[in-house]
Amino acid sequence: KTFRELGVIEELCDACEKLGYKDPTPIQREAIPTALNKRDVIGLAQTGSGKTAAFAIPVIQELWDNPSAYYAVVLAPTRELAYQISEQFEALGGAIGVRSVVIVGGMDMVSQAVALSKKPHILVCTPGRLMDHLENTKGFSLRNLKYLIMDEADRLLDMDFGPIIDKFLKVIPKERRTLLFSATMTSKVEKLQRASLHNPVRVAV
Ligand code: AMP
Repeated sequence: KTFRELGVIEELCDACEKLGYKDPTPIQREAIPTALNKRDVIGLAQTGSGKTAAFAIPVIQELWDNPSAYYAVVLAPTRELAYQISEQFEALGGAIGVRSVVIVGGMDMVSQAVALSKKPHILVCTPGRLMDHLENTKGFSLRNLKYLIMDEADRLLDMDFGPIIDKFLKVIPKERRTLLFSATMTSKVEKLQRASLHNPVRVAV
C-alpha cells in the first residue's frame, strides 16, 4: 500500500516523497490508518522501523484539519531523541506550516519560555522540563492539548520518569488522543498504558 492508500493527505504524501519515503514501513502501514480512525494506538516497534513518522503523520494530518497552539506533546526519554523527533515533524510538516519546539533539560528555561510563547503546534519534551514549565512559566498551559505521544515508553519508565508522567497525566485534558510507542512490552509499560490510553489498538511489527 502507498501512503495515499492509507488515507494520508496529498501535502503529506508530497513531503514523504521529498524525504525519499517511497512506501510506508510495516509499522506505518498499521499505525497510520488506525490513528486516522481516531483510535488510541500502542505501537510495538524498534528504532529504525519508521516509528517516528508512524505517529508524526497522523498527528500532522489531524492538526492540519484544525490547527491550534500546543496541539500535541511528545514525551521522549532523551534530549537527542527529542531533537530527532522534532526534526522529523518539521521535515514532514514544515511546508504546511507545522511548527515544533524542543523542551528538554539542560537548556535555558527563559529561551524555552520565549519559544513557548510563540504558540508552536508540537512540543517535543523530556518529562521533567515540561513539568517545570507547566509549574513555572506564566501563560503556559496545556488545557487545549489534543494529542499525547509517548515515545520509547519502556526507556521513559526505565529512567524513572514514571512518577512525573503520572503527575503530568493528571493536569492534561482527559478528552484527548494518546499514542504510545515502545520497543518492549513490560509490566510497567502495561500499567502506563492502562493509566493513559482509551480503548487502544495494539500494533506490532
Ligand atoms: P525511526 O524508526 O523513526 O527512527 O526512523 C528510522 C529512519 O527511517 C529515519 O531516518 C526515517 O527518516 C526513515 N524512514 C521513516 N519512514 C520511512 C519510509 N516510509 N521509507 C523510508 N525511510 C523511512
